[in-house]
Amino acid sequence: MAQELLVIGGGLAGCEAALAAARFGAKVTLVEMKPAEFTPAHHSPRLGELVCSNSLRSAQVTSAVGLLKAEMAIMGSAMIKAARATAVGAGKALAVDRERFAQHMEAQIEAEPNISRETRRVDQLPTTPAILATGPLTTEGLAEVLGKATSSDHLHFYDAIAPIVTLDTVDMSSAYWGDRYGEPGEGDYLNCPLSKGEYERFYAALTSGAQVPLKDFENPRFFEGCLPIEVMAARGEKTLLFGPMKPVGLDDPRTGRWPHAVVQLRKENRDGTMLNLVGFQTKLTYEAQNQVLRLIPALASAEFVRWGSIHRNTFLDAPRVLDPNQRLLAYPHLFVAGQLSGVEGYVESAAMGMLCGINATRLMHKEALLTPPPTTALGGLVTHLQNKATKDFQPSNVNFGLLPPLEEKVYKKQRGAAQARRALADLMAWLKTEGLSPQEPPPPIPEVSYSKNKKKS
Ligand SMILES: Cc1cc2nc3c(=O)[nH]c(=O)nc-3n(C[C@H](O)[C@H](O)[C@H](O)COP(=O)(O)OP(=O)(O)OC[C@H]3O[C@@H](n4cnc5c(N)ncnc54)[C@H](O)[C@@H]3O)c2cc1C
Repeated sequence: MAQELLVIGGGLAGCEAALAAARFGAKVTLVEMKPAEFTPAHHSPRLGELVCSNSLRSAQVTSAVGLLKAEMAIMGSAMIKAARATAVGAGKALAVDRERFAQHMEAQIEAEPNISRETRRVDQLPTTPAILATGPLTTEGLAEVLGKATSSDHLHFYDAIAPIVTLDTVDMSSAYWGDRYGEPGEGDYLNCPLSKGEYERFYAALTSGAQVPLKDFENPRFFEGCLPIEVMAARGEKTLLFGPMKPVGLDDPRTGRWPHAVVQLRKENRDGTMLNLVGFQTKLTYEAQNQVLRLIPALASAEFVRWGSIHRNTFLDAPRVLDPNQRLLAYPHLFVAGQLSGVEGYVESAAMGMLCGINATRLMHKEALLTPPPTTALGGLVTHLQNKATKDFQPSNVNFGLLPPLEEKVYKKQRGAAQARRALADLMAWLKTEGLSPQEPPPPIPEVSYSKNKKKS
């Protein structure tokens, strides 16, 4: 009898994985503990539940997440089918009726003859080919065995996320490069200084900003080395000046002196086009962050591509424990998909489910495994999961910083279109080479006019 593929977890990644595997000819058993048992964030008895927002973010192919959705649609994604069938008006975003969305996902699973379902909690790692897609709230028992299998250093339980800005929107007249005690004007850190008055205004806003209430399953015991900035600030007005806003050794080339306080920005991606605010993990609401962080003069008009957050999130240290096809290095019959693998977001989780479903089937059929081109949004997520240069790996949403820079010089407003053109051309060529049929043609993409000065290669 042909071997079956086990998919554990019937969330976004698990459903997408099961349906992709079934479409490619695998016999699949999808195991989900609901409705017998629920994580603290899941409430619906259905598969494919959206746990929080009903938005799948931008629908525009010129944004990274819009491009990812276009690539998934071309590859036959079940999530995209369900989202299109249950969309609600949301301007340039793709939002869905969450109940009808879950019904649609479940109906696709039930209509697939290659998939059978089991309701039970899994507490051990399977010994046969399987995809682990149990999400950020993976049950404790399974998380524990996964921790032991990968060494507990490689399984994280909390996300402490610092905000990220784009370099070209930082006001460079108020910022300077420099490492602590290094040569002013040179170094890896972009320093954003605050005078005494600016710091006092910032501090007052920070300590009065609204915070996201903790969910009942979130234990407010933070690691001392990773405290939210507002928790540090609450200990006293000077605490931040001895912590993440310490000015010591950071000569401001404009004054030749240390400023009163400094926020340091560090490269977030390979090309340094995105920078994170070092030590600025926070539980402030996004709205409060938008007000408080703009009081840092260099960031007054910055584009924040990610806000800070801290929440329970079980995820693997992917660069150190997964291979480029999301298999556990120590257990190559086990794929890891979704948020547990180290991507962030509904769409990203489903995308990795789709890739794992296809590759798990190919593994069982003894076919070569597939890796999408790095210039695609799908490939960018794989690049993130394999980024061994990051010591403190954190889950990431898809963004253009994960893709190689464009070869041509392109006007800023057209960069998204240029990325999308390159990505979809490369995706279509790759599908052809691998003998995979696109399920729909690529969407139209706005024209791009390349600027006269070509980038030097
Ligand atoms: C509180 C919270 C809010 C979030 N809000 C958003 C948001 O608004 N937008 C966004 O894009 N992303 C959000 N995320 C991040 C992430 O995109 C979602 O968690 C997403 O659902 C992850 O997809 P997944 O398939 O990996 O996991 P899930 O969708 O969580 O699916 C995992 C499934 O596995 C099951 N399961 C768990 N353990 C076991 C076990 N041992 N045996 C059997 N079954 C098991 C669960 O019941 C669940 O159905 C949020 C995350 C959290 C924790």
